[in-house]
Amino acid sequence: MSTLTLEKSLEAFSAKFAVSAALTEEGKKFIPGGYSRSSFNFGPHAVYAESGDGAYIMTVDGHRLLDLNNNFTVNVLGHAHPAIESALVEAIPAGFSFGNPSLVEADLARILIERISSVEKVQFSCSATESCMSAIRVARAYTGRIKIAKFEGGYHGFSDMLHVSSHTMPGQGGSDADPQAVADSAGIPQTELENTIVLVQNDLAGTDRILRENARDIACLILELQSGAGGLVTLDEEFVLALRALTTELGIVLIVDETISLRAGYHGLQGVYGVTPDLTVMGKIIGGGMPLGALGGSKAVMRVLENGQVSISGTHHGHRLALVAGAACMNTMDADAFERLNRHSNRIMKELNEWSHARGSRLTIYGKGFSHMAYGYMTEPGLMVRNHRDYWHNVDGEKTQILSLELAIRGFFPVHRGEFSLSLPMTDDDITSFIEALKQIVTELES
Ligand code: PMP
Repeated sequence: MSTLTLEKSLEAFSAKFAVSAALTEEGKKFIPGGYSRSSFNFGPHAVYAESGDGAYIMTVDGHRLLDLNNNFTVNVLGHAHPAIESALVEAIPAGFSFGNPSLVEADLARILIERISSVEKVQFSCSATESCMSAIRVARAYTGRIKIAKFEGGYHGFSDMLHVSSHTMPGQGGSDADPQAVADSAGIPQTELENTIVLVQNDLAGTDRILRENARDIACLILELQSGAGGLVTLDEEFVLALRALTTELGIVLIVDETISLRAGYHGLQGVYGVTPDLTVMGKIIGGGMPLGALGGSKAVMRVLENGQVSISGTHHGHRLALVAGAACMNTMDADAFERLNRHSNRIMKELNEWSHARGSRLTIYGKGFSHMAYGYMTEPGLMVRNHRDYWHNVDGEKTQILSLELAIRGFFPVHRGEFSLSLPMTDDDITSFIEALKQIVTELES
């Protein structure tokens, strides 16, 4: 009988973060659910942070936690990084909000264009949700087609058109061979589902068949090379390269959503795969902790924005402070910084998977080897997650939740569903302590 149970871990979590539990209840008086983002939930309630410093956060409950959530991968430089802080402090006295462009807009666009070879032009927004919406509009205008193809488990923001089949649950979404679009929320019109073609990650034969059958209607295929919010799944390189060839053949715009995966390397995850999409969505790290999204793409496709065919306009698009923070962050993220993060990531994956394998444990660390990964407690030793539906069969949700709760109790703050990301200020000792904590929790779980 394990010494750890979900009941005990939930109890210990709420006792340790009792102030956060009370604040969640207080918040519910004013805000549906207690806070404006349901993803703040960490099991029974959120953990409220008072401040952040480097790789750590201080919670209102008085605990210092190694931040492995990093605002869902945003904080690649950790908290209050001096480069971002001083850029913002310098920028603030000149004013915040203007009906004029700022010099830094082209600076950040140039940085992204220099690094991501498929990106020749960039348009900024306030969030990746918005830039995903822009990408779809651009693709529809460019092709004159209406339908969107996306992967089950792929997350591209919460717009009506894309908040579809990101979180499909067992029993929903049709058969494995014939996936059907499912709304991720009430209030999404049926027409959006009719316009969405859903595909299964890493299933080349199925994807090829469905795309060919619908090719005349499909404006774009949007994908994450490694998905996050819908559950971490890494696409195979051969699969992605085959999709690039197929979409080119069928005249479908290929949109790679690098909102999370831009932290994979200096040239993004598309640089690692060697794939050249038509459009790229960016977010998270490019704003340095401020709200910023971007759509980048080839001159040919982005021309529909240039010639006025497509209209996109937001009051805060190109917000100076977000651009200032973003430029400071991206300038700090040089090739060495990405390499350091990837070294830590590879160490975590290798050490924990080897340890788990040697003892016949069901712990698996998965991901492409960059600083956004997941831990899962599997239903059998050695299982992996190759597509969204593997979460239904291969991951023991309850035990994975115990891992998350116990990590928080022991001083680490991952994403509750089992994902985690690293930040540049993390030291070798931080990484060691995380590895050892997971080993200890799994040992207790299996004792
Ligand atoms: N695309 C991806 C791949 C994401 O992970 C997210 C956010 N988790 C979005 C789009 C939406 O970004 P935002 O929440 O900034 O609108």
